[in-house]
Amino acid sequence: MLNKQVYLDYTATTPVSPEVLEAMLPYFSEIYGNPSSVYSFSQKSRDAIEKARSQVAKALNADANEIYFTSSGTEADNWALKGVLERMRKAGKGDHLITTKIEHHAILHTANYLEKINNFKVTYLPVDEYGRVRLEDLKNAVTDKTVLVSIMFANNEVGTIEPVKEIGAFCRENKILFHTDAVQAAAHLDIDVKDLNIDLLSMSAHKMYGPKGIGALYIKSPLKFENFMHGGAQERGRRASTENIAGIVGFGAAMEILKSRLSEDRPRIAKLRDKLIKGILNKIPHAKLNGALGDERLPNNVNFSFIGVEGETLLLDLDMKGICASTGSACSSESLDPSHVLLALGLSHEMAHGSLRFTLGRYSTEDDIDYLLSVLPDIVARRRAMSPLWEDYLKQGADPGPISK
Ligand code: PLP
Repeated sequence: MLNKQVYLDYTATTPVSPEVLEAMLPYFSEIYGNPSSVYSFSQKSRDAIEKARSQVAKALNADANEIYFTSSGTEADNWALKGVLERMRKAGKGDHLITTKIEHHAILHTANYLEKINNFKVTYLPVDEYGRVRLEDLKNAVTDKTVLVSIMFANNEVGTIEPVKEIGAFCRENKILFHTDAVQAAAHLDIDVKDLNIDLLSMSAHKMYGPKGIGALYIKSPLKFENFMHGGAQERGRRASTENIAGIVGFGAAMEILKSRLSEDRPRIAKLRDKLIKGILNKIPHAKLNGALGDERLPNNVNFSFIGVEGETLLLDLDMKGICASTGSACSSESLDPSHVLLALGLSHEMAHGSLRFTLGRYSTEDDIDYLLSVLPDIVARRRAMSPLWEDYLKQGADPGPISK
């Protein structure tokens, strides 16, 4: 029985850190009052929520009254898109959304729904081979009916960071609202919503050492649009449902801790990322790095395609060695379709199928990377030796390299 476990899937989710867990614990069975109740016992619950709201707001250079807690990043994305478009159409201002082909399904499927079921117009921008949106394409897509641009801050599969500052400036100049899905970016980058001209921003706590099932939407004041959850008057009348107090407290604590550690964690994680990228390129022939390079890539993301093999099989082999990785976004891992992100970057179906994503985090170590590099070349070589695809590839004249000979 193998005891070793190396977790390299921090983009799928992160563990709740011990400090965050400690902050949350009292809010399960000691301070459990419903924040909407009038007695003073509930004041402690209300105070805890407002403290967390300030912690999240401070990390974004936002005001506390601009933060609305949701049940997830997915809910924040749904709310932003549906809420703004419905309001804008009702007000006669327009019905056109611009987004990209590489968004998370929380955006893409919502945009599809708005387009197919509710007759909104949606433009899906292409990206370049590194996964970057071109400002020129955005400018060309705008019409007099464009009311919202939703472009992710950083991609969850290949880690590419989008030119958010330029996009924000363009949208502000043209009086178009700008939403960004920062579910991945917020865990690794400094984000200043004022400096970046962001109107709406989605986040999720479980990507930053907080609990699952809690997210937030930043809504620039005084922007008003349709509610998504209808019911009680929670979240200043804009998001109904009894608050997940422990989750909210955990989110606030996670955000504050993350911010205080960012300048130390980011370069350390980026160094491990670069070691892994270099190691794979040196040890595995015909390995293609997917996504952008250096500072245009999230510090924790490594995504490779290995021609001639299936990512799913490599995942099972890695699992046998105690290594947790991914072959696309966690949410689509039950689907056998190739990743829409890799296809948008111009990869063939074969290359997209042969992809592996390793994502690092606060608790990743040099030993984790060394261990992965000690087993992965052999795993890829063995699978290639059995693969008709790899055989075909070699017949085209490719040098098999030292390991696969
Ligand atoms: N947006 C991005 C970019 C993501 O990576 C994810 C989750 O992987 C989500 C949205 C959904 O967040 P949640 O799991 O909180 O619903």
